[in-house]
Amino acid sequence: MRVFLLLGPPGAGKGTQARRLVEKYNWGYLATGDLLREEISKGTPLGNQIQPLVTNGKLVPDELIIALVGTHLQEGRDYLLDGFPRTVPQAEALDQLLRSRKATFKAAFLLEVPEEVLLQRIQRRAAIEGRADDNPETIRTRLQEYHTKTAPLIEYYRQRGLLYRISGVGEVEEITQRIDNHLSTLLKE
Ligand code: ADP
Repeated sequence: MRVFLLLGPPGAGKGTQARRLVEKYNWGYLATGDLLREEISKGTPLGNQIQPLVTNGKLVPDELIIALVGTHLQEGRDYLLDGFPRTVPQAEALDQLLRSRKATFKAAFLLEVPEEVLLQRIQRRAAIEGRADDNPETIRTRLQEYHTKTAPLIEYYRQRGLLYRISGVGEVEEITQRIDNHLSTLLKE
């Protein structure tokens, strides 16, 4: 089992790129944001507990996320992770989980997009998808959460030689190609 990660701020295009890569390589796909929204829409106990946090753009506590991921990662297939890990403790928990399953973390692809472009993209998505957390107040909180809690992962994966910086500006297809260029080498190893 090999694991790849898409890292980057809200609006960087992780979900868009993820769908394309997962289809191309037939990987499993795990997006914690999607899993959490599903729990909320079903009104499960977990969903009710996290609903105010997600709606306000705050991160959900690490323990809840780690438990959720543990139940969704199936053995015996490669995975693309989107939106997890989002904190250093989550990354450490993932490393431990992967060790126990004899799996390898292969690469973290960091999608880099200037902040003004992020804001434009999220506003457009808000108009199209109507996500409850795509409003100006919440977007500010999500970007703050990213800078304080998630951005340290850039250094975490860089130190381990696992970080690949990808410009997230340009056509969707072009950005996929940038990631693919690295994958063609990584998948041969
Ligand atoms: P985006 O990347 O656009 O912010 P996501 O769909 O990945 O959107 O996440 C939406 C929300 O779900 C986050 O703002 C946060 O509240 C919660 N969330 C998702 N993944 C995690 C995580 N790994 N740890 C904590 N909270 C998370």
